[in-house]
Amino acid sequence: MDVGLDEGQALLVGGARDFARSELLERDRRWDETDETVAEVLPALAEMGFLNICIPQELGGLGCSYETYVRILHEIAYASPSTAVTLSVHNMVGNILAVWAQEPKRSEWLGRWGGTESFAAFAVSEAGAGSDPASSTTKTEKVAGGWKISGEKMWITNGLTGSWFLTMARTAPKSEGKVFSAFLVPGDAPGLERAPMHGKMGIRGSETAVISYDEVFCPDNHLVGPEGKAMQVFMSGLDGGRLGIAAQATGIAEACLDEMVSYARERKQFGQLIGRFQAIQTMIADSAVELAAAKELILRAARYIDAGKTSPAASAQAKLFASEAANRIAYRAVQVHGGSGYVHEYRVEQLYRDARVTTIYEGTSEIQRIVIARSVLRQ
Ligand SMILES: Cc1cc2nc3c(=O)[nH]c(=O)nc-3n(C[C@H](O)[C@H](O)[C@H](O)COP(=O)(O)OP(=O)(O)OC[C@H]3O[C@@H](n4cnc5c(N)ncnc54)[C@H](O)[C@@H]3O)c2cc1C
Repeated sequence: MDVGLDEGQALLVGGARDFARSELLERDRRWDETDETVAEVLPALAEMGFLNICIPQELGGLGCSYETYVRILHEIAYASPSTAVTLSVHNMVGNILAVWAQEPKRSEWLGRWGGTESFAAFAVSEAGAGSDPASSTTKTEKVAGGWKISGEKMWITNGLTGSWFLTMARTAPKSEGKVFSAFLVPGDAPGLERAPMHGKMGIRGSETAVISYDEVFCPDNHLVGPEGKAMQVFMSGLDGGRLGIAAQATGIAEACLDEMVSYARERKQFGQLIGRFQAIQTMIADSAVELAAAKELILRAARYIDAGKTSPAASAQAKLFASEAANRIAYRAVQVHGGSGYVHEYRVEQLYRDARVTTIYEGTSEIQRIVIARSVLRQ
């Protein structure tokens, strides 16, 4: 993915690659087996500038384009898919604030976005509201100086140590339709409780939590975007967010391909290296092509965002293709390893599980197809 980068971008992406492979890879393997999480590397991620990748430089961010951002996330995901989703969600919230928050709060929040004390979560999904966020039941009551929020959010990434929760809640009665607003809720607000969700198939180093709001007070100036416009706020963020997940998927896929190739170069059967069998070569070739295609779709969608063009369909195409391809590639990686691919000692076993969620969160593959089809039918 390094082709076409200027010197500064190449340094950042190369730095991410070195950091990820030296500091995250071993830890990610440990997080898969224990209750420990990415939280332990937050200070190092902050030090590298990875908590405010696209935030403008005048506010202390790295000021990267989306094109550079997705390349950084790809490198992180290669070594640690759990860290990649952690960063993707936190950075997505920052990118949303950069567009929708009002001054002076915008500068106040983003000026500190690169520090661990600003670690953020995106709280939309509920037990009964996943693909259809408009069926959320989290509600508000208008009080002097702000709002009281009550309800329960589920599946919230970064939910255990997050300091901010960008929360979607209803701000008008159901009879008035889909009237939701976005609030930046402080994690230490009285009435906000968090509980870990255990038993995930993969990305076990990433925090996933249930967040309950019991009349949590949120001041008026923590409203993000106009009142009643949460759908626009969240959907605009998801264009970039979906690219973060797509880059997570290609990072996983590239790691799978590298594992496949090195195993094919060392494992012998029938007196020869398995890499000499055409069946194995086909799996490697198909994976290399799909990976290259996925990266191109991601870069294309990132360039749309960098050019200030709205293209939900381009992000949806990238996310759909990259996540489905990552799952196919992970499947082949296990297959190339034979029985060894089925045990934890070999990394492909974990990557196979880590890849699975990429077709589910930030919009399932079925939802991406709806976004794409609507756009094609409109043209
Ligand atoms: C590890 C993890 C982390 C997550 N992190 C976050 C987070 O940080 N913040 C957050 O808000 N959410 C988060 N989520 C939630 C995630 O976005 C939802 O799980 C996802 O949107 C799917 O919703 P659901 O699980 O309710 O499935 P459902 O919406 O119930 O879908 C079930 C099935 O029905 C299909 N389906 C639904 N509607 C349609 C339709 N109209 N047409 C065709 N098929 C359809 C789906 O594609 C799927 O196959 C996370 C989820 C996981 C697993």
